[in-house]
Amino acid sequence: MRIVVLAGGIGGARFLRGLKSAAPDADITVIGNTGDDIHLFGLKVCPDLDTVMYTLGGGIHEEQGWGRADETFAVKGELAAYGVGPEWFGLGDRDFATHIVRTQMIGAGYPLSAVTEALCARWQPGVRLLPMSDDRVETHVLIDDPEADGGRRAVHFQEYWVRLRASVPAHAVVPVGAEQSKPAPGVLEAIAAADVVLFPPSNPIVSVGTILAVPGIREAIADAGVPVVGLSPIVGDAPVRGMADKVLAAVGVESTAAAVAAHYGSGLLDGWLVDTVDAHATAEVEAAGIRCRAVPLMMTDPVATAQMAREALTLAEEVRA
Ligand code: GDP
Ligand code: CA
Repeated sequence: MRIVVLAGGIGGARFLRGLKSAAPDADITVIGNTGDDIHLFGLKVCPDLDTVMYTLGGGIHEEQGWGRADETFAVKGELAAYGVGPEWFGLGDRDFATHIVRTQMIGAGYPLSAVTEALCARWQPGVRLLPMSDDRVETHVLIDDPEADGGRRAVHFQEYWVRLRASVPAHAVVPVGAEQSKPAPGVLEAIAAADVVLFPPSNPIVSVGTILAVPGIREAIADAGVPVVGLSPIVGDAPVRGMADKVLAAVGVESTAAAVAAHYGSGLLDGWLVDTVDAHATAEVEAAGIRCRAVPLMMTDPVATAQMAREALTLAEEVRA
């Protein structure tokens, strides 16, 4: 079975770990979000690709969900001693090595897809990890700024999320550069060859939404003629973690499992899993033409997460039949 998964960071990575154990023989291609990528200290940092790579490769800081296990912060301390920031983005020493290797390879002319493959040669994530695009796409968030022209200013997604903790209203989310970007080599081919496409419980706007903003990817999924099944990242009308409610509000979508399904739409999505606490929402989703089931959707441990993946594959089979 060939499975394509569109993944952000933590939600995507944890789900993928469950999927690997639920379908050990499957050939899994992950299309990773690169809209969160940021240049810091002259280095190219790809938080979502790295979260997937470290999580599946056994190097993740488990409790935190991002960054390396057994991390130290000597470089960060030295940079701060020089007064060189930003101090709000936590890069540890082990993590720095990844960004140095990546930046060095990009400087030598390798595209991000080739760099990601090289990094994965060490981590052996057990999936084929592809960036959504080799081109630069950067998610920006429009926030209030009384000093700025028009009273608003666009900031990098990481500044909105990590520095500002999503504490100010988001008025718009813009994947800058997406319109001119092309899917990375292998992306459209993997979708065309897939037996099923899964949207894990990743952020529907700044993770899955950004991937779908790369011209050609949404169309390829809709045209693939295979089941497309998603798992709601919204449980009990709130994100399980993160700021999905804030960025959903910015695009006028309610923070409910049903509203997120409707946002993807029946033209794209064939099946949708909601948590059991949202069982009341299944009728509304089905009325919108999307097959819907209510099952436990909390990735509390590997067993529960694998069961979620099994439910997604079962729903895909129902759709196919
Ligand atoms: P990020 O890039 O690190 O923000 O990660 P993703 O976009 O992949 O995932 C973030 C989304 O995952 C958030 O909207 C969370 O609500 C959702 N999420 C995290 N843990 C869980 C969980 O255990 N169950 C469900 N259903 N969603 C989760
Ligand atoms: Ca992310």
